[in-house]
Amino acid sequence: MFINGEWVKADDSESFSVVNPSTNKVIASVPKGKENETKMASEAADHAFKGWASLTAKERSAYLLRIRELMIEYKSSLAEIMSLEMGKPYKEGLKEVDFSASYLEWYAAEGQRIYGEMIPSSAPDKRLSVIKQPIGVVAAITPWNFPLAMFARKLAPAMAAGCTTIIKPASQSPLTALAFGKILEISELPRGVVNIVTGSASAISEEIFSNDIVKKISFTGSTEVGKSLVVKSATHLKRLSLELGGHAPFIVFEDADIDLAVDGAIESKFRNTGQTCVCANRIYVQKSIMDEFSKAFVEKVKELKVGDSLVESNEVGPLVSADGLDKANAHVKDAIESGAKLLIGGKKLEEASAEGFFYEPTVMSGVNHNMLITREETFGPVAPLIEFESEEEVIEYANSTEYGLAAYFFTNDGDRAIRVSEALDFGVIGYNDGLPTVAQAPFGGLKESGMGKEGGHHGIEEYLEEKFISRKLK
Ligand code: NAP
Repeated sequence: MFINGEWVKADDSESFSVVNPSTNKVIASVPKGKENETKMASEAADHAFKGWASLTAKERSAYLLRIRELMIEYKSSLAEIMSLEMGKPYKEGLKEVDFSASYLEWYAAEGQRIYGEMIPSSAPDKRLSVIKQPIGVVAAITPWNFPLAMFARKLAPAMAAGCTTIIKPASQSPLTALAFGKILEISELPRGVVNIVTGSASAISEEIFSNDIVKKISFTGSTEVGKSLVVKSATHLKRLSLELGGHAPFIVFEDADIDLAVDGAIESKFRNTGQTCVCANRIYVQKSIMDEFSKAFVEKVKELKVGDSLVESNEVGPLVSADGLDKANAHVKDAIESGAKLLIGGKKLEEASAEGFFYEPTVMSGVNHNMLITREETFGPVAPLIEFESEEEVIEYANSTEYGLAAYFFTNDGDRAIRVSEALDFGVIGYNDGLPTVAQAPFGGLKESGMGKEGGHHGIEEYLEEKFISRKLK
């Protein structure tokens, strides 16, 4: 683990294994940190806080840019590590490094634009102002599906704001985080500004939530765990940001550009082998174009190259684990038993590897809202097609979920686009766009998909406190 600028083992030398999902073979053993190591990391971050916060924004910006530069320099190694530990197709890994680096670049600049406020006073002898200050030590808990981007998106604004951090990466993908620690070491970032603790989620979070040092927790992961953290945060009223699960509707209207919609659906559904929080989970297609859309979509799905994620030409890799594979299979089985029709795929892909967790890219038609797949996140390369008749009907379908993260629609009618954008209860909308997320825009869910924003000028506010100062003149 990377604590206070040094590489440390777990106190009790315990470790856990990391498995390559393409081969189901153990590739590394990583320290299993618990309360003690988290305490050490918290104290290191606390100790570093004063010095880091008192640097000028420009000085902090220089560190962010240096880290960004090193990420680009080590891009291929980072992509390779991601591919090995969680099965991300190598080419997507390269893109994830660029995407992560874009947060460092954006916040290196945005950190220099943290402005306060002067408020007109109602008394002639008073001057009212608001200043913004870093919140303090921040803990970030991240998921495995974007092992680099999810913490870059937290770390960059936190560091730019003047906060110091403890990162707890997912146990399925700790190696990318540790490789990032190596980059931090090379960058000569002051000790303790960023600390990385791998290991037991329950023990690490116990310490984070119970000590007085950590002021804020930024979590990305499942809605179930996110809700449990809300309860835990009550004891010390720790500030929380939550980026949670999603169940994205992807709507194709009859006036859409079908080729564009097919490409958007492929991007949105099969990126990271269908394991993203913003993946198209329900593809709604207007009745009059269902045949045309489904044929063109299935043709594109047929062309997807599936196999070992390290092989550069492969576009779809394995699922992260045997559980992930079982879930995709269970959703398909449930849908077929309830009347859906398989257009392509529908089973474990043995040809890719008998040991790895590969599932065939799958498309089903005739899906309805009683099926599991329309309610739970599948987190796999399975595309359910659902027919609709009217705009009103599809908006109702789309919003009929407790999630509210991302939604997509394709149309060439500008007025419809405004109506639909306003009616969809989701925090991120792709209008003729299957990949809307960028560093300079706010990303975050409504309803049970979370609270708080990441990205844009909105994202840095999560790491700042506002302080009101009233000055009485003598
Ligand atoms: P997860 O099981 O909730 O785990 C996420 C992180 O939380 C991991 O680091 C995990 O550690 C840790 N964790 C687990 N139990 C915990 C607990 N009781 N207290 C504190 N931390 C705990 O989610 P996942 O399966 O890794 O990730 C997939 C989920 O993340 C999906 O629901 C997806 O939609 C969501 N996601 C959301 C976004 C977004 O921006 N909204 C982005 C990506 C993913 P261990 O690995 O050690 O268990």
